[in-house]
Amino acid sequence: MHFGFLSFPGHGHINPTLPLVEELLRRGHRVSYAVQQPFAAAVERAGADVVLVPGNGVAAMSGFDLKSGAMAERLGGMIEESLAGYETVIEAWTADPVVAICYDKMMITAPMITEQLAVPGIALNPTYAGNEEFEPRREMLRQLAFDARGAEVAATMKSTMESLGRTLTEFAGRHGVQPPRPFESTPAELNLVFIPKRFQPQAQTFDDRFVFVGPDLGARADEVWQPRLADRPLLFISLGTAFNDQPDFFRTCLEAFGSEPWQVAMAIGEAITVDDLGPVPANFEVRPYFPQPAVLKHAQVFLSHAGMNSTLESLASGVPLVAVPQMPEQAMNAYQVDDLGLGRALDPTMITAKLLRETVAEVAADRTLRARVAAFRGELAAAGGAVAGADAIEAHLEAVRPLSLPLGT
Ligand code: UDP
Repeated sequence: MHFGFLSFPGHGHINPTLPLVEELLRRGHRVSYAVQQPFAAAVERAGADVVLVPGNGVAAMSGFDLKSGAMAERLGGMIEESLAGYETVIEAWTADPVVAICYDKMMITAPMITEQLAVPGIALNPTYAGNEEFEPRREMLRQLAFDARGAEVAATMKSTMESLGRTLTEFAGRHGVQPPRPFESTPAELNLVFIPKRFQPQAQTFDDRFVFVGPDLGARADEVWQPRLADRPLLFISLGTAFNDQPDFFRTCLEAFGSEPWQVAMAIGEAITVDDLGPVPANFEVRPYFPQPAVLKHAQVFLSHAGMNSTLESLASGVPLVAVPQMPEQAMNAYQVDDLGLGRALDPTMITAKLLRETVAEVAADRTLRARVAAFRGELAAAGGAVAGADAIEAHLEAVRPLSLPLGT
């Protein structure tokens, strides 16, 4: 079978789909992945054919700062870019038809594309899923509204989404399809969720349209990296690839761990440079980007923004977290980690060098916590990953495929 993949332009969105691509290819299927230039190499490495769509992937540029209200602007930019790619995708998959389209839940144009091409859509959720009872985007806006600065951001987001809603209605009208509703979670017939069900809020309201397959690293698990020193414990620090324009936080880390027995690998992203941080202590290795899964194989603790991928990649490697969330969804993850006893959540507005140093030391020394992380690691592996995802897709298509259609269409 030939599958189309549509993802949202961000590492945190594309990475968890790649093992599924690899698994489908392993089973003899074909995958065409519509993606913007900054992500083409990663998709090609997974073995998919690239359908290059216009735009440079606004999300590929790091430096999100929720407080400035820039997120609404960026989201708007990303949706406009995905509209610009609409025709390319329709043309590619009309000339070379696909049997189904696997699309990131944030890819707002996907339901219009599946309708226009008259193929089933399979929604991919790199993070919390939404259904008729629980809507993660509403939850995020509600959380923002508690904070004075956040309320302003929430208002900007809401008006951006409303104006995008009008753009989408007009766009859908021109293409003779139903407009998507940017604030509603309309579940697809099959929804794969790359998190374990234990992480999903209101998990009991999710029926069997939702398959919680958990995280899977696929070929990324084979990346290699060696710590510079053999005899010092490793602390890995990262705020991920998007909400990382935080030079003060990284400077505080240099201060907290510069004279400690730790060796530290610190990923600072693309928004700032190492020169912005001042002198770097000898026990630090600072880079824009590390091969994270490979680094986690050596780490004792991960001081992280608690993006969903980072959180689960850390736990899947048996590494406890100290979470410093930078936006509401990451705060939800951080509280889950804290509540489940798999690490500690810190309030990002209260960070000091002393607090970081002490919390990291406590987490590293806590044997009970490490035992819970080890048990959770087993639970993650049992969720089934890409194999379970591909099984669910094949079973679903078997069930919906009209009997008259020959296999291979
Ligand atoms: N990542 C990486 N190296 C880095 C920083 C990030 O490989 O130095 C990867 C990480 O493994 C994860 C993704 O980028 O798969 C980040 O996703 P996450 O959901 O944690 O956060 P986001 O970047 O979307 O905020």
